[in-house]
Amino acid sequence: MPEIPEKQWAQVIEKSGSVEYKQIPVRKPGPDEVLVNIKYTGVCHTDLHALNGDWPLDRKMPLIGGHEGAGVVVAKGDLVGDDIQIGDHAGVKWLHGSCLSCDFCQQADEPLCPKALLSGYTVDGTFQQYCVAKAAHVSRIPKNVPLDGVAPVLCAGITVYKGLKESGARPGQTVAIVGAGGGLGAMALQYAKAMGLRTLAIDTGDDKKDMCLNKLGASAFVDFAKSKDVVKDVMAASPDNLGPHAVLLVAVAEKPFQQAAEYVRPRGTVVCIGLPAGAYLKAPVFSTVVKMISIKGSYVGNRQDGAEAIDFFSRGLINIPIKKAGLSELSDVYDKMKKGEIAGRYVLDTSK
Ligand code: NAD
Ligand code: ZN
Repeated sequence: MPEIPEKQWAQVIEKSGSVEYKQIPVRKPGPDEVLVNIKYTGVCHTDLHALNGDWPLDRKMPLIGGHEGAGVVVAKGDLVGDDIQIGDHAGVKWLHGSCLSCDFCQQADEPLCPKALLSGYTVDGTFQQYCVAKAAHVSRIPKNVPLDGVAPVLCAGITVYKGLKESGARPGQTVAIVGAGGGLGAMALQYAKAMGLRTLAIDTGDDKKDMCLNKLGASAFVDFAKSKDVVKDVMAASPDNLGPHAVLLVAVAEKPFQQAAEYVRPRGTVVCIGLPAGAYLKAPVFSTVVKMISIKGSYVGNRQDGAEAIDFFSRGLINIPIKKAGLSELSDVYDKMKKGEIAGRYVLDTSK
């Protein structure tokens, strides 16, 4: 049996806007839970929204954030079945738990469960060394998969993979990724490529441009800060200048949510994924009708989406630049994130 310490390091939010690195007790798992020794955890922009209280949704306080945790199962409750064993590798995702019996859970839409529990939001998350998680919802990670690389798949990867499926785009078609230089955006470029889609990246800065075009397979890059007319430039970069077949909005600003309907191709689909504070969608009614545009939201993924997204990664199809820092350095990562300076994803090593 692995030795489980009484105390551990964690990043705790005591009040909105600030996080404190300190030692706290290690919890014991309940009957339907496992205890995961988190080795690496990604930092998602959602964690920053949670820190600042950006959304009209109550969060736990004090709170331990984080929901891209990859690690090793070190203890399990009495009701946990044989399919997950001590020593197995597991992932803690945003969807921590759901009732598994409501209308939505019955139809594998468990993120829509009215009783859903959210890691790093309504329950403590992965910015700690030992995290309790519901056995039914932890992702199973094969032992040959590196835990640092797979961590960002657990939210960013699953979410964009689901969003691409929701877009209905078919192999050979073009998808615009808006916010392509961030964590979700970088993942979206890679999943889209693996799914046989052409991609068009929208973000800003030379680092992100270089990453999108030269590392992640985008066929064009539109810099929203330099472009005089984003709508025109996106249309010009798309097949026969008629716009991309789908748009994945993973940006953290409102403006692109008000532009996408203008450049999406007739019959195309706009998928909203990013959650900028207080933002509203806008689209001209006339062109939405005469272009037969679909506009929809997409929210994380179910357990099957998770398993499929991890399978893409384990086959070596998904490669995004990850930057490493220690769990103790979370505040510095947030500072960079606020400034939009992170190309790709930060992954924290919980031993530092
Ligand atoms: P990130 O900070 O890593 O990336 C955001 C990117 O958006 C940055 O590269 C930034 O430069 C870019 N951006 C800002 N303004 C833009 C504009 N006007 N046009 C184009 N790009 C612009 O953030 P992330 O971790 O990738 O998360 C992105 C968003 O997705 C967050 O709001 C997060 O909460 C949300 N999210 C939603 C779900 C879901 O289930 N729907 C899941 C995870 C994250
Ligand atoms: Zn996330």
